[in-house]
Amino acid sequence: MTKPKILITGANGQIGQVLSVQLAKKYGKEQILRTDLAQNDDGLLPYKSLDVLDKSRMAQIVEQHQITQIYHLAALLSASGEKNIHKTWDINFNGLVHVLDVAKEFSVDRVFFPSSIAVYGSGFNKSFTAQNDFRNPSTMYGITKVAGESWGNYYWMKYGLDVRSIRYPGIIGYQSLPGGGTTDYAVDIFHEALKSEKYTCFLESATRLPMIYMDDAIRATIELMEASTENISVRTSYNLQGLSFTPAELAEEIRKHRPNFTIEYHPDFRQEIAAQWPEIMDDQLARNDWSWKPAFDLSEMTKDMILNLSKKYNKDYVEPN
Ligand code: NAD
Repeated sequence: MTKPKILITGANGQIGQVLSVQLAKKYGKEQILRTDLAQNDDGLLPYKSLDVLDKSRMAQIVEQHQITQIYHLAALLSASGEKNIHKTWDINFNGLVHVLDVAKEFSVDRVFFPSSIAVYGSGFNKSFTAQNDFRNPSTMYGITKVAGESWGNYYWMKYGLDVRSIRYPGIIGYQSLPGGGTTDYAVDIFHEALKSEKYTCFLESATRLPMIYMDDAIRATIELMEASTENISVRTSYNLQGLSFTPAELAEEIRKHRPNFTIEYHPDFRQEIAAQWPEIMDDQLARNDWSWKPAFDLSEMTKDMILNLSKKYNKDYVEPN
């Protein structure tokens, strides 16, 4: 099989930084073209500036580089998105439509578009959220994702454009920092545990949310993109479950490694968003269709985060008792 030529939008973000490196490892650095708003990049992987609202430049890049796959990550996230809802609609929705149109025009083989647990909002089963449970999002971010899922599905049905998608839970990794989501606390808490051994959480202690370790999220994304077309039964977006925990449970796990770690709770507007989201996702279809299985539970994830961030902050790593 010929190697894909991959365009990544929003490549400088929390997921894009890690996904680009993984894709370059898998297919070769010359097969990857990272893009984002910044004019220049670190130069380690091929990079071009691209605002996803600039459709003609997007088309020019896709044609010039003979792109065969697009990973479309550029977006404003749930918490930042609430501060400017019109801009959020513009970037998240129109940016996606540009990607779909350009992909169709230049016969791109496959498009990946991440959706989110934010597509759910009220009137659904929070404790085990089914793939097709009621989607009534409470944020503009969630609205853009529900609409985006439908557009992806439409382009598949009408034009045969092979669009694939995952409803990512909150993503936790040591490699990059989160960019304005409601689950950001679950990354920030690790950095503060290493730096100052205390953290003030913007969610309430008992707020259970679905999360996933970065390694699992990246693996899921690439596995979905590599799955045979006939195995993909969901063309809106797949539910995906990694692990679920509350801030209090995460703090307890961190304390096994950093016994002096303390946490306080000062919930802000993000608590209201989190309160409308699922606690655990039913991801049976992802498991059936492309054999999805997470590798990291709470204890494995915490250990790996602490181990890697201990190196970053020059702290000794101590195995828990
Ligand atoms: P991020 O905020 O860290 O990165 C987004 C990137 O998009 C940034 O580098 C930003 O510069 C870029 N961007 C913003 N506007 C742009 C524009 N007009 N043109 C080009 N680039 C632009 O986000 P992330 O966490 O890496 O998320 C990537 C995708 O995954 C998003 O679609 C997000 O909705 C989705 N997602 C993320 C999470 C998570 O926990 N991180 C969870 C669910 C879904």
